[in-house]
Amino acid sequence: MYGAVKDELAATLREIEEAGLYKRERELTTPQAAHVATTGGEALNFCANNYLGFADHPDVVAASRAALDEWGFGMASVRFICGTQTQHTRLERRLSEFLGTEETILYSSCFDANGGVFEVLFGAEDAIVSDELNHASIIDGIRLSKAARFRYRNADMADLRGQLEAARAGGARRVCVVTDGVFSMDGSFAPLDEICDLADEFGAMVLVDDSHAVGFVGAGGRGTPELFGVVDRVDILTGTLGKALGGASGGYVSSHREVVDLLRQRSRPYLFSNSVAPAVVAGSLTALDLVSGSSEARESLQANSALFRELMTEAGFELLPGSHPITPVMFPGEDGARQAAAIADHMLGNGVYVIAFSFPVVPRGRARIRVQLSAAHSADDVRTCVAAFVAAREAVG
Ligand SMILES: *Cc1c(COP(=O)(O)O)cnc(C)c1O
Repeated sequence: MYGAVKDELAATLREIEEAGLYKRERELTTPQAAHVATTGGEALNFCANNYLGFADHPDVVAASRAALDEWGFGMASVRFICGTQTQHTRLERRLSEFLGTEETILYSSCFDANGGVFEVLFGAEDAIVSDELNHASIIDGIRLSKAARFRYRNADMADLRGQLEAARAGGARRVCVVTDGVFSMDGSFAPLDEICDLADEFGAMVLVDDSHAVGFVGAGGRGTPELFGVVDRVDILTGTLGKALGGASGGYVSSHREVVDLLRQRSRPYLFSNSVAPAVVAGSLTALDLVSGSSEARESLQANSALFRELMTEAGFELLPGSHPITPVMFPGEDGARQAAAIADHMLGNGVYVIAFSFPVVPRGRARIRVQLSAAHSADDVRTCVAAFVAAREAVG
């Protein structure tokens, strides 16, 4: 009996629409790449998490295609029943080697990894201290545990100290500091060295979600722990295969042996959701080979990010400072949200695909266009993007 629910849902949808928050999907008619086509025409893509350009890398595609013949299409099972192929365990071992951890456990997504990790490790006698800008999946995962929750202001170490004091004063057994390695709306890094120092001082564990870093941040692409020199001090890493590492799907928790062993026994999204598809496992293994085998993609990504920052600054745009390929172009003030949206629309009309974000996704008065660079962009692509910004600013005012 759908009945009155229909009208109630329609009313909610209208509210979303009227608040300007209704999300419409633009359909691509091509693979994910630097140059894509949508049903509206061709576009240069500056809003994918395709940092290394592996989403349609020929080696990744070839490995994945070969895996369809060798390993079949689906697993039709969870891991512990009959859904573990030797390549699933190989991928877990490969991730552990790459990340410098003891063990790794795969999930269908990083959303599931974050959804399944906290409840197993932290109960009512424990405390979780979480950065206010952490990803939605971390927030949900923490909610699923019965641990006491403490929230600190984004990357604010004085506030983290205060929250750790509060957690300890509450008599918590285990305390865990939880942070994204990179904050996706700002492209800023969590100060992991300082976080690990504070965690040591308070006898706390550290969990880092490195989804926006694994594969390309740090000299070897091992992520923010490598960048901050704390590979041995981060207790639990979560991350995705759905961004730089091929961009298909899949996530992981990588950690101490006992942590991963216990997750295999108790973690609900692992126990009750299907294994990662064979072709995705094979493609992800090849993506890791590419990351380990050459620094070329990382260097192109860095060069593109630096070039974009340089040209945009020269052109008089305000950027949030940083070096991550997430580059927020700021449109501050009352009229910023409208400006950012108008500029992004104008740019798409000129074949440059960028996305504007405003309240409530980012704080009021801090509207921005988030540009994401990729190793797949050429220097000319970057120049085209900057020229489109300049043209849009002139047209929109
Ligand atoms: C993208 C992202 C996720 C979700 O990853 P999926 O594998 O797509 O579920 C989780 N955490 C962070 C920080 C992310 O950026």
